[in-house]
Amino acid sequence: MNEYKGKTGIDKYLTAAQELLAQREKAKSAMRECRFDTIAVHGMYTMEEALNFNQGAIIEPFYMCSSQAYRDSDEMEAALSYQIPTWCYSRIANPSLYYFESVLALLEGYGFSGDTSCCATSSGMAAIMSATDPFLNVDPKNPNQKINFVSTCQVYGGTFQQFAVRKAQERGIECRWIVDSTDLGEWESKIDENTRFVYGELPSNPGLAFFDVKDVAKLAHAKGAPLIIDNTVGSPALLRPLSHGADIVVQSVTKTLTTSGFGIAGAVISRKDIVSNFGPDEMKADFAMYLKTLPNRDNGQSLSPMNAILSLNDMRTLRSKVDMLSQNTQTVAEFLATHPMIERVDYLGLESHPLHELASRYMFLVDSEHDAKNAGKPVNRYGHLMSFRVKGSALDTRKMFDGMQRIWRATDLGRIKSVATIPAISTHQQQGEEAREMADIPPNMVRLCVGGEHPADVIADLDQALRAIHGTVQAQVPSTFSVGGASSAILAEK
Ligand SMILES: *Cc1c(COP(=O)(O)O)cnc(C)c1O
Repeated sequence: MNEYKGKTGIDKYLTAAQELLAQREKAKSAMRECRFDTIAVHGMYTMEEALNFNQGAIIEPFYMCSSQAYRDSDEMEAALSYQIPTWCYSRIANPSLYYFESVLALLEGYGFSGDTSCCATSSGMAAIMSATDPFLNVDPKNPNQKINFVSTCQVYGGTFQQFAVRKAQERGIECRWIVDSTDLGEWESKIDENTRFVYGELPSNPGLAFFDVKDVAKLAHAKGAPLIIDNTVGSPALLRPLSHGADIVVQSVTKTLTTSGFGIAGAVISRKDIVSNFGPDEMKADFAMYLKTLPNRDNGQSLSPMNAILSLNDMRTLRSKVDMLSQNTQTVAEFLATHPMIERVDYLGLESHPLHELASRYMFLVDSEHDAKNAGKPVNRYGHLMSFRVKGSALDTRKMFDGMQRIWRATDLGRIKSVATIPAISTHQQQGEEAREMADIPPNMVRLCVGGEHPADVIADLDQALRAIHGTVQAQVPSTFSVGGASSAILAEK
């Protein structure tokens, strides 16, 4: 290519790149007019994109390749100075990652008026590190500032360790835990001018804590701190924090977004122009893109193209899967809530849950108002995550847990197969008893994520495992178990 549209040298590449970017901008605007399911199915992979770059392949290809070749030194120079879109080296960018990132940016930005962008990471934990560490750097204008960050204490066990050990203990950065995230006064008293970011999980894993994200965003912004939300459990099918004032969302793509369970992946999704007292202008203008091109380029927590395409493929049916898993979980939660061997069930979909009303203001199945049968009204859904506490000792709980025959014992969630874990001895083991008490994770708590099986079969498995705690005697007197509502109908149907 000696000349392009009358331009030579590096200019011809800049001209061609501008055309490509304009084309993609047009495709993005068109996609933003579409409904959630359409975005999930197509994303930014248009026929034009397929025919121009991918031999017409209707499915986004795996680019299992480390780097891109350039036509000449001009193109190389333009690419490596980020003046044109490039796949230069897969740690930084890759076409498979681009298709994955662009669809997730659109899904998390669905219904939000502003633009969003996404940076894929090698895991959910890498996403959390990527989203938080840039805010903890030394401020050259104020190198002795004593900084802090504020986070709900009800977070994923790995997040707790990253904050309490990697950041607070090892680096001496003050971590201020919010113990009752529904208490806005507590947030207000802990966020100050030295708070570099505010962090929360919605709903939390495994405790199902929930807080008013709009109010917390206002409190964070009043002190010039960005609000970062872990949206792993609900996924954009139920909740889109960016449209409620959050600046950045992190995803363990490993979980709800990819029910199939093929591997580990993560992502950081941000809105343009985030609120932050701290950091360079380019970081605030487009945080996810800044991560991609600078800190994550240098730190290297990139995602494999294989995992990007597998994740992308799972995400196409996100809405319908989250709907199904939520309905199944609701049925199982209602069954357990009336079970005599259960001390307590935590599921946001149960009316008796203290946070039911608050969660109901935020957790809707996306686009459900457009389903003819819902007559213009959005429908609440509460996701696949629930926890319950077994009546009796920690040992009784383990006995019940060991008795499950179809529900998998695994520290996983959001799977198409039902999985359960005892958080106190698994995901939340390392943080110690005191921290578990603070986060309310007792040894008789079981976290259950209901999958795509028929809920009657999940209920039957739980029921037999609960009965087995005290031997088989009770199995002969099922009349002592009162099962209410939908679940008794389902049991009868079996
Ligand atoms: C699993 C999980 C993470 C960590 O994600 P990985 O992909 O396992 O690194 C973070 N947050 C939540 C809520 C999780 O459930």
